[in-house]
Amino acid sequence: MAVTRTFSIIKPDATRRNLTGAITKMLEDAGLRVVASKRIQMTKEQAEGFYAVHAERPFFNDLVSFMISGPVVVQVLEGEDAVKANRDVMGATNPADAADGTIRKTFAESIEANSAHGSDSDENAAIEIAYFFKPEEIVG
Ligand code: ADP
Ligand code: MG
Repeated sequence: MAVTRTFSIIKPDATRRNLTGAITKMLEDAGLRVVASKRIQMTKEQAEGFYAVHAERPFFNDLVSFMISGPVVVQVLEGEDAVKANRDVMGATNPADAADGTIRKTFAESIEANSAHGSDSDENAAIEIAYFFKPEEIVG
């Protein structure tokens, strides 16, 4: 399996509860390395663009409002099969369905306020990384 990159967001429910370090440690313990990281306040336009694939879903407007309700930490993670490693440690979208020991089982408040985002494919990881980071901001 190759070393690849994925894109992560520590969501506003988690930054509000001062969980940036705790979540990052779980990512690192899962074999992922933070090769870029910045704390930002997303604009409405940025959040709408990022989640454009969900634009027709009933929860879209709430999701955008939630994602701009406070700061987020956007990260590029690197490791063996990074997309899968990240999604495994993140757990299911709904914390009620997430396995013990996952980020969402441990920290999520709800299916919406679920503490972390992780890309779902290598292709989307590349798109999402480029949405938030310039190449020179990523130092592996
Ligand atoms: P994931 O983040 O696990 O890849 P999705 O891509 O399906 O999940 O959804 C993106 C985000 O939208 C979720 O992480 C969650 O914050 C929110 N979301 C998903 N499904 C719902 C829902 N049924 N109700 C409210 N928010 C949701
Ligand atoms: Mg998704």
